[in-house]
Amino acid sequence: MNRRQLVAVLTGAGISTDSGIPDYRGPQGLWQRDPAAQQLVTIGPYLADPEIRRRSWQLRREGGALGREPNAGHRALVELERVLPLRVLTQNVDGLHQKAGLPARKVLELHGNVRQVKCQRCNRRSEMSAALDRVAAGEPDPACLDCGGVLRPTTVMFGEALDPVVLEQADAIARACELFIAIGTSLQVHPAAALVEIALEGGARLIIVNAEPTPYDPVAHEIIREPISVALPALVARLAG
Ligand code: ZN
Repeated sequence: MNRRQLVAVLTGAGISTDSGIPDYRGPQGLWQRDPAAQQLVTIGPYLADPEIRRRSWQLRREGGALGREPNAGHRALVELERVLPLRVLTQNVDGLHQKAGLPARKVLELHGNVRQVKCQRCNRRSEMSAALDRVAAGEPDPACLDCGGVLRPTTVMFGEALDPVVLEQADAIARACELFIAIGTSLQVHPAAALVEIALEGGARLIIVNAEPTPYDPVAHEIIREPISVALPALVARLAG
């Protein structure tokens, strides 16, 4: 593979809103507007308070992230992967890039994912769907079946550091790419801003696809404001052509 052809794509919540997943983490998102709601996904309170865990499981059940379907934006990136060397760095935990058909090895999940849960004590991993089945069957706060420890999603919660190995891989991809496309992200949250900086330092071109202005608009080579599920198929057709 010619490293200099590499396209790095950073995706944020904006690419999944057309799949019915709200932008909880964004500047206007639920977690920012409602400090009580943010506690549901903050590691300290989550581990300390069974009531917070019960509400958190209920939110996961109602949020239905596992039942969502990818949209035209996700599918456009699958097309792009067929014609150019592509890596997707995503801030999303919904797994919709893979569900759309992108090979798992092409996707780096910066904030983990909601497909699995793990035990905070013994680290045993199991399927989120099985845990949600237990909640539906009347266990409001399902515990680890091996050791009784607290179960939590394999996402990075507030108050937790991102996985340094994942971050290192993301940095390397940003450094190596020729084109960096930021999609549906405000570029204000760590590590998104740092990844853009690294890509620019490495001489990459920058395309931003986002409805709202970002701090990197002045240095972008192209800015696209159209809705993502409309804009991406057009952009991909152009890049692939
Ligand atoms: Zn355990």
